[in-house]
Amino acid sequence: MPYIVALTGGIGSGKTTIANNFAKFGVPIVDADVIARQVVEPNTPAFDAIRSHFGKEIISLDGTLNRGLLRDIIFSNTNEKKWLNTLLHPLIQQETQKQLYQDNYPYVLWVVPLLIENNISHLADRVLVVDVTPEEQIQRTIKRDNISLEQVKNILNAQVSREKRLSYADDVITNHTKDTSIQDKVANLHNKYLTLAKIKP
Ligand code: ATP
Repeated sequence: MPYIVALTGGIGSGKTTIANNFAKFGVPIVDADVIARQVVEPNTPAFDAIRSHFGKEIISLDGTLNRGLLRDIIFSNTNEKKWLNTLLHPLIQQETQKQLYQDNYPYVLWVVPLLIENNISHLADRVLVVDVTPEEQIQRTIKRDNISLEQVKNILNAQVSREKRLSYADDVITNHTKDTSIQDKVANLHNKYLTLAKIKP
């Protein structure tokens, strides 16, 4: 059973950037966002169930799920949100377990943006939080996603606060815009996790 390190952080904090640095050492990465997309790929049972439930309008012209529309629907309708969560939660959990346990590497990096919000930090052996200021998150997300200040602020407000996230951290990696030592910090954490994985009971 591999040692599981959960990597979390707010929008635009740099989770993907940090995970890519771990991957350079050969660490297997399991990405919660990728899994959330995989379970609703065309012709999966969840895709078919969602189409039957919401009608064909929920399918984009390219035949994939219109995730934006789905997000809008569940944002304003608690019952639909519950219905969708009941459908997807077990599938996501099953696929996550499958991916977390399929590698022979001593530990796995599980990148999960909503670790705290979804109350699943107990599934990891250790929690690594990427920490930046809200100002940096806002600036990076606007630049990357070309969205308005108001949209970014709404997303930030829907996530846990910086303080609450940090209270769950076993380790913290800062990723400030002026930081030049990410690779060194990741190397130190990587060595620490190899050691911890060895002594896991
Ligand atoms: P999300 O949760 O929104 O997917 P994320 O936490 O995975 O985001 P990244 O995609 O890694 O964050 O980074 C967000 C943006 O900030 C990217 O455009 C990335 O290139 C940039 N970025 C990451 N780290 C830094 C840094 N140290 N300095 C400046 N820009 C950075």
